[in-house]
Amino acid sequence: MLGSNKRKIILVCETCLSRNYSLTKSMMTQKDRLEIKKFCKTCNLHSLHKETR
Ligand SMILES: [Zn+2]
Repeated sequence: MLGSNKRKIILVCETCLSRNYSLTKSMMTQKDRLEIKKFCKTCNLHSLHKETR
């Protein structure tokens, strides 16, 4: 079970629901749902991106 504490997640724009970013996060250190302000090229502005699977 190598790397079983890491999970691949996708960040979606809150505004237009575009799947703009993918990353892996450690379930050991980040138990909460991620919410990050990132640039969305669809909205053409910085918007809140939330974790999804
Ligand atoms: Zn957007």
